[in-house]
Amino acid sequence: MYNFSYHKPSRLEEAVEILSSTEDAKILAGGQTLIATMKLRLAGPSDLVDLGEIAELKAILKKENNIVIGSMTTHADVAGSEIIKKQIPSLAHLASEIGDQMVRNVGTIGGSVANNDPAADYPAAVLGLGAKVITNTREISGDDFFTGMYETCLLPDEIITSIVFPIPTRSSYIKFKNPASRYAIVGVMVAETHNSVRVAVTGAGSSVFRVKAFEDALGTNFSSNSIANLKVPHDDLTEDMHASSFYRAHLVNIMAQKAVATAK
Ligand SMILES: Cc1cc2nc3c(=O)[nH]c(=O)nc-3n(C[C@H](O)[C@H](O)[C@H](O)COP(=O)(O)OP(=O)(O)OC[C@H]3O[C@@H](n4cnc5c(N)ncnc54)[C@H](O)[C@@H]3O)c2cc1C
Repeated sequence: MYNFSYHKPSRLEEAVEILSSTEDAKILAGGQTLIATMKLRLAGPSDLVDLGEIAELKAILKKENNIVIGSMTTHADVAGSEIIKKQIPSLAHLASEIGDQMVRNVGTIGGSVANNDPAADYPAAVLGLGAKVITNTREISGDDFFTGMYETCLLPDEIITSIVFPIPTRSSYIKFKNPASRYAIVGVMVAETHNSVRVAVTGAGSSVFRVKAFEDALGTNFSSNSIANLKVPHDDLTEDMHASSFYRAHLVNIMAQKAVATAK
């Protein structure tokens, strides 16, 4: 690993100040991805700004018809939150299936969303539930946030402070997981609100995406039967040692049907 300076501010303003005054600083959340990347020498930041002491980034709140989750909230805290289990059970379930207990105790929602791993679970929740990503400078719609494989519209100095999830009328997240890492080979979030249905898929492509044909069919008739015969084109889907693009296309349909059948 390269040498770097380590900072642990207790206020958000301090973190912003360090990030803007250093040449090549990086934000550190749980380090589940970043530290491994540095050990492999794929990243060599001059400074690490650890957000772990900033208390305001760890809250889980219900605000009107939304659940607001601080960016430094761990997957274990999302999975165990009574508010989330009651208001958006699909989100608590999604968090409970990330990695193993050690990963869930340390990994954070902000780190996961900022990293935008193509097989990560939270991007499907952000896109599928129609969430907003809040940073120290702006609000970003989930529809605009993810821009490509491991890419988002975040600027280098920008800090995700929270994610705002509208409470759906019903939703479900189902994944076909890699048995070793538990990352999604395919994961599908289906969410119904008062006036629309959203279907977001992770694991199948280079970045999370919506399936408009499923959304239209489910908007007319929210039942697994209404999408059973709809096919997802396989041409742009991921093909690797875990699954072919044909198999992933098939899984998108099956996971979506299961999500519709279990939505609550
Ligand atoms: C063995 C293993 C199994 C895993 N299995 C799964 C799985 O099944 N499903 C799944 O979804 N994920 C899985 N993960 C990923 C894990 O859950 C973490 O979400 C992910 O590694 C990010 O980790 P972190 O929160 O510690 O962020 P870090 O590693 O600290 O940071 C990741 C990136 O995000 C940036 N960042 C962090 N916080 C912020 C912020 N607030 N604002 C702006 N940028 C920020 C950092 O600068 C860095 O670029 C697994 C990881 C491991 C190691």
